[in-house]
Amino acid sequence: FRYINEQLYTVKSADAVELFKNEPDSFWAYHEGFAQQTKKWPNHPLRLIIQWLLGKDSGKVVFDLGCGEAKIAEAVGNRHDVRSFDLVAVNERVTACDMAHLRKRDGVADIVVFCLSLMGTNLLDFIKEARRVLKTGGITQDRRSDVTFRQSEGVRGGSVQAGLRGAREESRH
Ligand code: SAH
Repeated sequence: FRYINEQLYTVKSADAVELFKNEPDSFWAYHEGFAQQTKKWPNHPLRLIIQWLLGKDSGKVVFDLGCGEAKIAEAVGNRHDVRSFDLVAVNERVTACDMAHLRKRDGVADIVVFCLSLMGTNLLDFIKEARRVLKTGGITQDRRSDVTFRQSEGVRGGSVQAGLRGAREESRH
């Protein structure tokens, strides 16, 4: 697990795609390891995100990028329209792709979530892609470091602002 985790943080996502294509078993090993690790955490950020989504008006289009087992879709899929993406599809809820290239139209998502998934040396590609698919005023959450990115209202393609915010805090202008 640690080895693959390290790989994911230190290579470009295109290389991660190759890694898992060549060694599909390693993805399962990685996910097994990830699940073991996070079981010990008293506050998995996923729980906070799910709570936060449950508190929002229903019907939001939510993109879960680097979704793992697509737990968000599982938990709030009857309230919101959740689309789950990961390098490998571990179940039928997941669409396999590199989140640097989502093959989705501009401005379709209300909310984009990166939960512990901003790995890879081309992080900026993921954030740019999130910004592209977000509607104006959409929200991006990265629970890995409690950084909340938000897209300024009015200017799609405008600057994405980053700020350190409390874990439960929502930012929106
Ligand atoms: N969000 C899930 C899983 C976090 S583990 C959860 O909180 O449970 C990080 C996930 O990000 C892994 O499943 C990994 O495959 C995925 N990931 C990393 N780089 C990616 C990329 N370029 N495109 C899609 N998924 C990626």
